[in-house]
Amino acid sequence: METIDYKKGIKFECQGSGNCCVSRGSYGFVYLSDIDLKRFSKYFKISIKKFKEKYCQITDGFIHLSEKYKINGNCIFLKDKKCTVYNSRPTQCRTWPFWNENMNAKVWNEDIAINCPGIGKGKLIKSKTIERFLKEDLKNEDSIIKKFSLQK
Ligand code: SF4
Repeated sequence: METIDYKKGIKFECQGSGNCCVSRGSYGFVYLSDIDLKRFSKYFKISIKKFKEKYCQITDGFIHLSEKYKINGNCIFLKDKKCTVYNSRPTQCRTWPFWNENMNAKVWNEDIAINCPGIGKGKLIKSKTIERFLKEDLKNEDSIIKKFSLQK
């Protein structure tokens, strides 16, 4: 599996397309870690339990933002192509597009770079910063999987 070369950095700046906030294939769900849930609970000033009841669903044992208010695959927090919870957005959204699963050349070139207009725009994201995102993505994914396996 060929990985993309990001040693010289990659230009990326969100263009506000909202494309990454719309369900398509494997990007359907915004999965939530405990850190994400705590952040949301603080942001909405409600308990984690209430937040889960109001905004979340569980699929195959994994907690994610609810699909029940979705229109055309839009995230429940997307309004007029803008994230209405931007300061409190989950890790999955914070680390986009620098997810480990996206760094595969085929995935990056044939999917991510085509669907995300922010790629190739704006400032250069240095390789160290990309690595930080990749680590955060891995840590986030690990904690979600760990939580899932503890439930079993
Ligand atoms: S929480 Fe915000 S950034 Fe994340 S998918 Fe929803 S609208 Fe997009």
